[in-house]
Amino acid sequence: MSESGNAQHEKVVIIGSGPAGWTAAIYAARAEMHPFVVEGGISRTMIPGGQLMFTTEVENYPGFREGVDGQTLMLDMKAQAMRFDTRVLTEDVVEIDADERPFRLVTTSGKVVLADTVIVATGANANWLGLPNEERLAKSGGGVSACAVCDGALPHFRDRVLAVVGGGDTAMEDALYLTKFAKEVVIIHRRDELRASKIMAERALENEKITFAWNTVVTDVYGDDVITGVRLQDTITGVERDLDVGGLFVAIGHSPNTGFLKGVVDLKENGYVRTPIPWRTQTSVPGIFAAGDVMDDYYRQAVTAAGTGCMAALEAERWLAHGPVEVLGEEAAVGA
Ligand code: NAP
Repeated sequence: MSESGNAQHEKVVIIGSGPAGWTAAIYAARAEMHPFVVEGGISRTMIPGGQLMFTTEVENYPGFREGVDGQTLMLDMKAQAMRFDTRVLTEDVVEIDADERPFRLVTTSGKVVLADTVIVATGANANWLGLPNEERLAKSGGGVSACAVCDGALPHFRDRVLAVVGGGDTAMEDALYLTKFAKEVVIIHRRDELRASKIMAERALENEKITFAWNTVVTDVYGDDVITGVRLQDTITGVERDLDVGGLFVAIGHSPNTGFLKGVVDLKENGYVRTPIPWRTQTSVPGIFAAGDVMDDYYRQAVTAAGTGCMAALEAERWLAHGPVEVLGEEAAVGA
């Protein structure tokens, strides 16, 4: 780190603190780039460490034969990065000026950080159904949540009928987790076929406490201070019915955290960061790299996030040493 005027000047700033961010930090720190990690602030839907902080058991991250708790994995990754020369700020980056070199970053508190290279690893956040009462009861803690692992153990949900919306792995995982506390879990899915992996789907289908409402969507949420039920609609017949529930867990996917990147780097139509060169993490702006769920709308796994975090740190290192890596990347892509 050095001072340019009053602003802190870094070789590499890593934005985000999931598997991509911490892996990038480990590689950058060991390459003596002295990474500065802006790990993100605490909001209602996200905390430093990212989505894995809300996952109980990770069984598919290599190296843990019995599986590993998501929080443990993330805290260990952070500790591994901190073993070397990594520094951390618990804020968000709210603005990047990519017209200037070094890049000029502004954080939540107004702090200005200058960066020779930037690695964006801000991940993704949970999606909501978009119903007014869903939002109201989620904000007030009235039994509507997008994170079963964070909220499911609360006393309010014990021995109740709980609803989970979605047909992917998250919905299956949430439903299975909630069976520990609930009387019954109803998975509400808009189709008659699950998107979830076979193993997760089988576990949910075989669980005696889990039932399914197929071809069904939630059209309203009932309850003043606390949820009392949901209005459901059959997507084929159009028939509506009410279901009394003591909790609603929304598990319908995620959106990338790229709001602060609009107009800075190219984004895809779905909002994810575009990395135009195959097998590179370089964005449309040379010197700014992207890793993990923020650029990956296909694999979205902890291990792939960690892998792209490694790639981004190596590319940033080469960028600092040799200048534009995208030329090498284009040649490699043409030759591939
Ligand atoms: P996902 O795979 O995108 O599934 C989202 C589900 O929500 C889909 O079934 C989708 O329905 C439904 N949905 C989307 N928008 C909806 C809406 N507006 N109303 C009603 N339903 C809606 O997301 P995910 O389950 O969060 O998984 C994301 C990634 O993480 C996946 O790659 C998954 O494998 C991975 N993951 C893995 C594990 C694990 O291995 N333990 C755990 C969690 C997540 P349609 O099917 O009709 O599109």
